[in-house]
This record gives sequence, structure tokens and C-alpha cells, in this order.
Amino acid sequence: MKRFYCDCGQEVYFHNTHCEHCGRDLAFDPISMKLLCGHRELGRFISQDSQHRTQSYKTCVNHTEPLNCNWLLSADDPHSQCISCRTTQTIPDLSRPKNPLRWKKLEQAKRRLFYTLLSLGLDVRGRELDEQGLAFQFLEDQRTNPHVAIEHVLTGHVNGLITLNAAEADEGFLHTMKEAMNEPYRTLLGHFRHEVGHYYWMKLLSEEALVQFRRVFGDERFDYQRALSIYYQYGPARHWEVSFISGYATSHPFEDWAETWAHYLHITDTLDTAHAYGLTNYEPSRNDFDTWIAEWTRVTQLMNALNRSMGLADAYPFVLTPIILSKLRFIDQLIDSQAREQ
Ligand SMILES: [Zn+2]
Ligand SMILES: [Zn+2]
Ligand SMILES: [Zn+2]
Repeated sequence: MKRFYCDCGQEVYFHNTHCEHCGRDLAFDPISMKLLCGHRELGRFISQDSQHRTQSYKTCVNHTEPLNCNWLLSADDPHSQCISCRTTQTIPDLSRPKNPLRWKKLEQAKRRLFYTLLSLGLDVRGRELDEQGLAFQFLEDQRTNPHVAIEHVLTGHVNGLITLNAAEADEGFLHTMKEAMNEPYRTLLGHFRHEVGHYYWMKLLSEEALVQFRRVFGDERFDYQRALSIYYQYGPARHWEVSFISGYATSHPFEDWAETWAHYLHITDTLDTAHAYGLTNYEPSRNDFDTWIAEWTRVTQLMNALNRSMGLADAYPFVLTPIILSKLRFIDQLIDSQAREQ
């Protein structure tokens, strides 16, 4: 992600609603992709552009507690929620103590997801414009709330609707799941990036791309439920690292795609951040996959070396083999061609 600064010169962050240094209000405009400095009044956000012209925006209705969403809408936008907030269809019961904070963390991770999707030129339309547009539901199950009907919320995607267990926002729950599922890189942001991958598979693959997909990822028509139950019984095959980005990716071509897609978004965001902090001069452009990966490799070597200096495990223990690279390249080409169409 880019670095952001208040007009007073102070460095500020993506989720900030005001500057700690000068006290002015801050808000993010997802159209210009800029964090703006100004002031909020009566549902409006007033800011000045570089030529000192006054600009007026609508604030997201969720700018108050518990979300403190700092995203803006155009002044004439008929919606009350920003493009990210309005994709959320269901939230957990806010009268229960942990849920307001869970919802806040979920929406923060979702806005970060949206930032990367928008920067890649991907369509993030919700259901008000597209029946199978993006939508989210954050549910609780009986593991954390005995009063709900659902015994076990399964994280997943169906026709654009992404379901997440709200408890994934708890550090404790996430830690337990990391151990139980052997997923050391399990994070909220990672869940979002993975699930949205299933959504874009549905949206981006033409007939022609599907033929290519099968060549790269395998045949997705293989019985999905059966594949998953085999995976949960036996785990990934030996030497899976040669062909897959994670153990879970071995379970089915759909999951391989979603895991690789999530990894693609990890690289995109992290390399953007590395660039913003001067760790690389490289700025990604279209049809530039090989340079992009070479630069990424250089940055990950640096990340690992820094961690080792602190006596920590490698920040990036992944090896991008030729097979994995061919999968990432396929995703790269698909995103490039859809961004061109837009
Ligand atoms: Zn300031
Ligand atoms: Zn919002
Ligand atoms: Zn999945």
C-alpha cells in the first residue's frame, strides 16, 4: 500500500480518521485512491484540492462507532454506505460484547482488500448493480455463541456471497484455527483474499480462459466435496511444494486457484508497500510479470534477512517454483486483460 501524509506533513495511515499531530479529519476517497485531509460536518467531508478549490464528499454512514469507516462517497451518490461497507449483508448481533470489535476488524480487513482490488482495476460492484455482485455475511456459530442456530459456520463463497465466521477476528480463535488446520499464515485479510478469488474465478473466466485454466490448474469438474474430504482425511501429498503454494491448494483446482489468487494479492500489496518505503524503485506495469517476480524475490530476500537478524523465522518461507509461477502468470494475464476492458 502507498504511504499517506496529512497536509501538516505528518505521516498518517489508511484507517486513520484524524491526524494525531494537527487534529484535522482524514478520509479516504476510493475514486482518487487518496487519503484526504479536511473536516467532517453533518455527513459531509470538506477538503481542499492542490489548487485550493473546495471539494465536498459524503461520508460513509458507518464513520461513527464501532466501525469508524473513513471512506467517502461522491457528493451526489445516492447511497449512505461506502462501496466497501455496502457489500456487507449480515453482521453478528452487536448487543453481544465481542461483536462490535469483530465487525470493525472484519471491515478494516475488507477495506484493505478493496484497496488492492481497486488498484488492480478489478470490478467490486455489489448486489445493487449486479445480481451476482460481491456480498459478505459475517456470522457467529455455536462455538462462540450458544444462542445462534448455526452449529458451524463454514467460510466460503457461493455466487458472489462470501461467508466468514466473525470469530476469525479474535486473536485467540485465529490462533486455535492456525494450529488445528495447520495454516500458519491464516489471517483475516488472507481469508478475504482467498474467498474473493473464488468470486473472480466465476466472473473472469471466459470459455477460452477456462480451457487454459484446466491446463494450468487441473480439471475443476472433479467432485469437489469428495476432493475436500480426501484432503481432510489424508492431508497434502508428499512433495506438494513443487506444484502448490500451500498444502490446502492441493485439495482441488478451485482451492489451488483461490490460494494462488490470494498469494497474488499478497505480492501486489507487499511490493506496493516496499516501493512506498523506498525498498525498491520498481513500479509494476502491464505485461511485466518476469520483472515483477524478480523484484518480489529480491524484496522477500530482504524481508527474510531482516527477520533472521531479529532471530525470527522467515517472513516469506515460500518458494515460487516454475509450476507455481505459471499459475501466478495465468492470474496476472487474466487481471491485465480485464483491467484493459474496463
Ligand atoms: Zn496533520
Ligand atoms: Zn464505509
Ligand atoms: Zn476456498
